[in-house]
Amino acid sequence: MRVTARAPAKVNMHLGVGPLRADGFHELRTVYLAVSLFDTVTVGPGEGLAVSVTGEGAGGDVPTDRRNLVWQAAELLAASAGMPADATIAVAKAIPAAAGLAGGSADAAATLVALDLLWGTRAAPGDLAGIAAQLGSDVPFSLLGGVALGRGRGEQVSPVLARRPTHWVLGIADEGLSTPAVYRELDRLREAGRVPDGAELPSTEGVIAALRNGSPAALAAALSNDLQAPAFSLRPELRRALRAATDAGASAALVSGSGPTVAALVEDEEAAVRVAAVLAGAGVFRTVRAVQGPVAGARVVA
Ligand code: ATP
Repeated sequence: MRVTARAPAKVNMHLGVGPLRADGFHELRTVYLAVSLFDTVTVGPGEGLAVSVTGEGAGGDVPTDRRNLVWQAAELLAASAGMPADATIAVAKAIPAAAGLAGGSADAAATLVALDLLWGTRAAPGDLAGIAAQLGSDVPFSLLGGVALGRGRGEQVSPVLARRPTHWVLGIADEGLSTPAVYRELDRLREAGRVPDGAELPSTEGVIAALRNGSPAALAAALSNDLQAPAFSLRPELRRALRAATDAGASAALVSGSGPTVAALVEDEEAAVRVAAVLAGAGVFRTVRAVQGPVAGARVVA
């Protein structure tokens, strides 16, 4: 028996980063959007764990041992069910690694729902969400999907209403950015007084109201990301990439999460195709993808 599940990439339409907490994490307020770029995970019987990776990041950035989040997901689910962690886990990646799109989190979420069925653990949704939160800040959202407000370090998620689908073009760079390095750069810029100190978290209300009203113009005006300044600082060419997206006709563009992916908001599906074609021809990005969201979170598909 084999079980296949898929889970989406995310874009942060709002990412407010508070001060560094005593536990080493920053307090966040974020509005997540699940978009139509999916990784697929197929699990089957095995003795112990064996992980394989194909597609984006295979043979490079993405480990196949216990450093892979899918391995850790399997171990935690098995431990919580009091059973041995026996499975083969094949990860087919379309979401680039270290791109600010929560690819590893998507894989972990897909693994949880797939193994839950394969092993018959029948974990309650709340149990899976608890395991997800232990795995990483973005994993609970990868399970939930849709649009959600994230609190804490992003792991406390609650659904948000979106009246209409939104369309985006993702510009993906050649080389990833390490999330911890981007947070460290933010702390450094704050200490140097070069960006606001984050003592007051910016309100998420602008983005949430724009989604509720289905207003693309208001959404374009409300997009914001506190990690954009440190991402620019580490990757100065990202400024040009953002400008290329708005020059190509996007309503607005921002760095997704810790970057370096650029998420460009466009009017509709036709604009997405047009802007994607211009950006692909501009040679600023390695890969350009037209996506839409919200889409569902991690789901068994076969
Ligand atoms: P986020 O947006 O949640 O900060 P990200 O999209 O920038 O994350 P990921 O693709 O999730 O980054 O992975 C970051 C690092 O995690 C990779 O460089 C890799 O070393 C490690 N990793 C562990 N498991 C995975 C996985 N299944 N897929 C990709 N990377 C993984």
